[in-house]
Amino acid sequence: MLPFAVKKFLFYAYKKGMMKMFGCIFCQIAAHRKPAKILYEDEDCLVFQDINPKAPIHLLVIPRKHITSLNDNLENDKELLGHMMTVVGRAAREQGIDQSGYRIVINTNAEAGQTVFHLHIHILGGRMLRWPPG
Ligand code: AMP
Ligand code: ZN
Repeated sequence: MLPFAVKKFLFYAYKKGMMKMFGCIFCQIAAHRKPAKILYEDEDCLVFQDINPKAPIHLLVIPRKHITSLNDNLENDKELLGHMMTVVGRAAREQGIDQSGYRIVINTNAEAGQTVFHLHIHILGGRMLRWPPG
């Protein structure tokens, strides 16, 4: 059982979106505290190159706000999620893969292979992508 003060701290840290305090790499990229090849950013989200690309074009779209995964309660984030989809389309056009084709992926939890627990949309393109994915 955690002491009340610790619980209270964790609650406020969570409420105030202070997950960056715990070293979330994508929060740190969003705050420009860690390097990344950022291709686009606005007040709500960013697009940057994946550090370990699985295709000639492999970008990540992330919200600035710390959202752990699609399993979070996202009832109040519908506008943000819709906006991220429009940013996907823009990034695909800018990378010249909109006509040839591309895939977006959101891995959620262990069996899908999620390794970074800050919501991110993978954009993969520039080669033939097999289906179904492994
Ligand atoms: P996932 O396995 O779906 O959680 O995807 C996490 C992705 O983040 C992987 O494709 C990693 O290569 C990528 N990644 C991890 N750290 C960084 C980083 N510092 N900069 C850019 N991409 C990263
Ligand atoms: Zn984060």
